Amino acid sequence: MQQYIDSYDFAGKKAIVRVDFNVPLDENFNITDDTRIRGAMPTLKKILKDGGSLILMSHMGKPKGKINPKLSLGQIANAVASALARPVKFAADCAKAQKAAADLQPGEVLLLENLRFYPEEEGKPVDVDKDSPIYDEAKKRMKESQANFAKTLADYADVYVNDAFGTAHRRHASTAVVADYFDDDHKMLGYLMEKEVEAIDNVLKNAQHPFTAIIGGSKVSSKLAVIKNLLDKVDNLIIGGGMGFTFIKAQGGHIGESLHEDDLMPEALAVIEAAKEKGVNLSLSVETVCAKEFSNDAERQTVDIFNIPDGWEGMDAGQRSLDNWKEIILASKTILWNGPVGVFEFENFAHGTGEIAKYVAEATKNGAYSLVGGGDSVAAVNKFGLADQVSYVSTGGGAMLEAIEGKTLPGVAAIKH
Ligand code: AMP
Repeated sequence: MQQYIDSYDFAGKKAIVRVDFNVPLDENFNITDDTRIRGAMPTLKKILKDGGSLILMSHMGKPKGKINPKLSLGQIANAVASALARPVKFAADCAKAQKAAADLQPGEVLLLENLRFYPEEEGKPVDVDKDSPIYDEAKKRMKESQANFAKTLADYADVYVNDAFGTAHRRHASTAVVADYFDDDHKMLGYLMEKEVEAIDNVLKNAQHPFTAIIGGSKVSSKLAVIKNLLDKVDNLIIGGGMGFTFIKAQGGHIGESLHEDDLMPEALAVIEAAKEKGVNLSLSVETVCAKEFSNDAERQTVDIFNIPDGWEGMDAGQRSLDNWKEIILASKTILWNGPVGVFEFENFAHGTGEIAKYVAEATKNGAYSLVGGGDSVAAVNKFGLADQVSYVSTGGGAMLEAIEGKTLPGVAAIKH
């Protein structure tokens, strides 16, 4: 069974590759960040170097099943061509590219139009309300058309490669269903996917202990599933950032105007109990830098986290919290970091998150494996210039979070069983 591309010889083969070219464009439709295009290059160059040809498919933005010229992938064809240093042909209808695909010669590249111009890509019924009595029938029909759409794509090529980790948590036509039309020797994960899967396995399956997870960010609700799954795996669980205040309030703390979710206080107490039962060292913040208002220039003071005065809100981790966390992080052999421990977008409240980034980098230098993933923590390590000093920075926010929640990623499972 062929799971990865490295040992496969693409000579004379047409490869249809699901890439993530969902790049941001400015108002003049210029690419403002080409990280994702660059991220796909190792896989694409390997296939071309072997003597294969490329059919590239991706989504861009959320056209919701309708043609939207502002989200046309034609706009990025030149950027892809210069990254690959060769011409790129463009198929303006991704479902009618049979001839263009058939004519493709070794070394040539064909870019398909935005897959999400077709509702079949996402496979959700269009314009039918979930509560409607015909929803189930509409869903069934859409699944059938999704399968046909996926088969159309599959028929263009000899081999399917998925290198779009950012959409690996979706069962879309191009990310998972298309794989049904290739046998096990003709579907593979690209280099980027391989690295992401390996990074997830390094923390969730093969972690060296002590294993520490640092979970921050704004809301408990968005990270509860992550926390619950990690409780069975980690030795230390550091909870910081806005979500920490729900845990403090649930224990009777006075949190002033800090961010919190009252309805999740019972869940927070259950996490505290579960951590005790499982022998996990749960380390909450003990001190916070709070502000009079939610702004960078607000008046500040550092207080005990259980006694935040009325009219003040916790915005960053205090030094006593950072000292505790530094000790834990530096003693760790595996580290998973998701979410900032303060409002790091504001210079005056970025100190705590910057310190965490430094501790994780230092532990990595001392031999720990560190994975930074899921949304804003990636922006944080980039901001502090430490991205190359951690073991791996994930490219997929939602996909990484779902993997840490313990969910199977359909894009991976379609190929690697
Ligand atoms: P998330 O997307 O859940 O990882 O949350 C990231 C966001 O959490 C960032 O925009 C931070 O500014 C925010 N955040 C972190 N700590 C706090 C806090 N103490 N109060 C309000 N927002 C916070």
